[in-house]
Amino acid sequence: MRGSVPCPGPDYAEFGGNSSCVVVECGEALLIFDAGSGIRPLGNSAAFATRRSATLFFSHFHHDHIVGFPFFAPIFESGFRLDVYAARRPGIPSVHAVMNAALSSPYLPDLMPIVAPQCVFHDFAVGNDVQIGPGIAVRTHDLCHPGGATAYRVQSGSHSVAYVTDHEMATAGSDALRDFVEGCDVLIFDSMFDERIDGDKPRWGHSTVQEGVALARDAGCTQFVAFHHNPNYPDPVMREIDAWLSEQAGVKAFAAREGMSLLIE
Ligand SMILES: [Zn+2]
Ligand SMILES: [Zn+2]
Repeated sequence: MRGSVPCPGPDYAEFGGNSSCVVVECGEALLIFDAGSGIRPLGNSAAFATRRSATLFFSHFHHDHIVGFPFFAPIFESGFRLDVYAARRPGIPSVHAVMNAALSSPYLPDLMPIVAPQCVFHDFAVGNDVQIGPGIAVRTHDLCHPGGATAYRVQSGSHSVAYVTDHEMATAGSDALRDFVEGCDVLIFDSMFDERIDGDKPRWGHSTVQEGVALARDAGCTQFVAFHHNPNYPDPVMREIDAWLSEQAGVKAFAAREGMSLLIE
């Protein structure tokens, strides 16, 4: 839920303080988007008690999106298989090389030899689809963010969920992204700023909740979920943003809460 850095404490209890991790369950497949600190409780949840495989997609490698990876318990269990995908970008090493560095001294004890038997790393060219079993396609799209980031759209039959973070809409413009998310059931979107609070602040590669709602409306998305909440927006601020979202016409909009699940049918 939370952007940039995990935010523990009572001020974040309602909307959640863990950094980015979203799960899309699609038939037998379990697709995880980003390994922020939220992936730790996910790995310890009942959903993983009997599960033997999952697929993880990184939007990019900023700390808040990878920090939970070494604390995702299933990758330490022999027989579990995690397929890990990230876009290959100029000047940035492969997903295996990046995670190998992140899981090595001096950042951590050398964990890669322990988790490697359970993990299969895949690079892809952004813009290409990743096919996950029969009938599930994951489309990819380039975002505007320092060092680059990838948006994902899970398409299964007529249903679709778009995961779009971290992205600076004010710099990128919205045309290509509007086409990418057009008509999706759920748009999960980088809503790091509220222009009523931080109208003149630098965006640091992020968007406003107002830009997100406008995109969702333009693209005919059914539901809009504000995501990657600002660490400086504790629960009272998030409650106000959530109330503002609920008043928006043309799209069902709300702020993500940790542990929230949506059924798409
Ligand atoms: Zn982030
Ligand atoms: Zn980032």
